[in-house]
Amino acid sequence: MALTGVMPWHQATWQHLTRLADSGRMPHALLIHGAHGVGKQQLAEALIARTLCASPADQACGHCHSCAMLASGYHPDLLRVSPEEGKRQIRIDPIREVNRFVSQTAQQGGYRVIVISPAEAMNVAAANALLKSLEEPGEKTLFILLSDVPSRMLATIRSRCQQWSLASVAFEACRGWLIEQLGSLDEAYFWWQVAGGLPLLAVELAAPEERALRHQIHDSFEQLVRGSEPVSEAARLDRQAIDAILWYGIAWLEDLIRLGLSGEAAVLHNPDLEPLYRQAVKNGRVQDWFRLLDYAREQRRLLAVGANPNPQLVLEAWLVRWAALLRS
Ligand SMILES: [Zn+2]
Repeated sequence: MALTGVMPWHQATWQHLTRLADSGRMPHALLIHGAHGVGKQQLAEALIARTLCASPADQACGHCHSCAMLASGYHPDLLRVSPEEGKRQIRIDPIREVNRFVSQTAQQGGYRVIVISPAEAMNVAAANALLKSLEEPGEKTLFILLSDVPSRMLATIRSRCQQWSLASVAFEACRGWLIEQLGSLDEAYFWWQVAGGLPLLAVELAAPEERALRHQIHDSFEQLVRGSEPVSEAARLDRQAIDAILWYGIAWLEDLIRLGLSGEAAVLHNPDLEPLYRQAVKNGRVQDWFRLLDYAREQRRLLAVGANPNPQLVLEAWLVRWAALLRS
């Protein structure tokens, strides 16, 4: 079995978690949160494996019956809950299943582990149904909740979990791993910057199709500067990529704000976009950039919860606002 490795930048967190487990002080519910691309899933997988393993060392042994079952894709003492295929919400039925699961005895005589991901996807009924199990979980039960945006969770759920916040990663801490993934120091550093210090996101963004998308968005913005119509630029972009397009826009606005406030190109996450930023900075209205940033974050939130049915309109409105900002 290929062990789910702990990411090198999570070694300290991992040591802390294993000490808790080995001294019998592991809480019954963990909320592991941090931005997409920091490695929450990898940390959780390593913890799931070690918790279920019959003879764990620093990590799960990889050989015991429990490790073998986990590797096969089915373990009777592990229950994973995520939104159904094509859906955004976790509804009450799978949480009722969680409640039944925790009321039973572990089949392998060890821990039962319940993983809920992303935890913010639980609707109110589901979250309320989970509360009782979180309050009285029974012995040897470990809940692992994963969340990109814990502020979207019910406060009553958050407060019943021990929170583990995974912050963005300093380059030195992920440098070797990124060079291994991306082939060179220059590539590693560039994509680490673009991803805002999120190593797995850096690798995602550096993949060919994602690179092409970034290039295309950049090109559309250049065209906007030259007077192209936002609606025709919106038609050239893939509306299915609206979340990524908003994500880039947010990252670029944050760059613009950094540049506008400091005047220093060294602070940029996207140094290759400096000429574009200089164009926008000529307008010099920082409050407009902040307003656009709020707008984009809200649109991303609405898309995430399924409350925004028309990505094409969002895309057009987004580019109309950028066009106003880029043209002096
Ligand atoms: Zn094992």
